[in-house]
Amino acid sequence: MVFGQKLFMLKILSSVWEEIYKTLGTFPPEQGGILGGTFDTVTKFYFDSDAKRDSAHYYPSAKQLNDVLKDWYQEGTQFLGIIHSHQFGDMRLSPRDIDVAREIIGKNSSLCEHLFFPIISSEFDSKAFSGTVYRISPDRVDQEMIYIIKDKKGEK
Ligand SMILES: [Zn+2]
Repeated sequence: MVFGQKLFMLKILSSVWEEIYKTLGTFPPEQGGILGGTFDTVTKFYFDSDAKRDSAHYYPSAKQLNDVLKDWYQEGTQFLGIIHSHQFGDMRLSPRDIDVAREIIGKNSSLCEHLFFPIISSEFDSKAFSGTVYRISPDRVDQEMIYIIKDKKGEK
């Protein structure tokens, strides 16, 4: 992080964060899903249960995600990004992650100029769960902070 650099953040509703924890946070790594909301606030998460995955990569299932994006678009929910999980302790974007993000931006340039690309890492035994977010544009990558915003649905 360069000193003096403007800090960006991605806000995620606590109810959405909990859905992410219950799926990506408890399943083996390299699972993912899509994020929707407005501008920099995530109000929706769709778990991509149909994704192809192996121990090192998550491949979003284009058909399933496109159907969800269509529904979201009709109800005014913006497509904000893709979230996926890595092995515990590995919060770095892989070169392939960046390629995937830029390919999706290329195919959806009418919907987005950049994508938020959070990475979740969890340790099954201790239930430790952490995340970071990158904002990927065609020409740059910035790491940002995740803020969890408490919402009504998240209240117990
Ligand atoms: Zn990855």
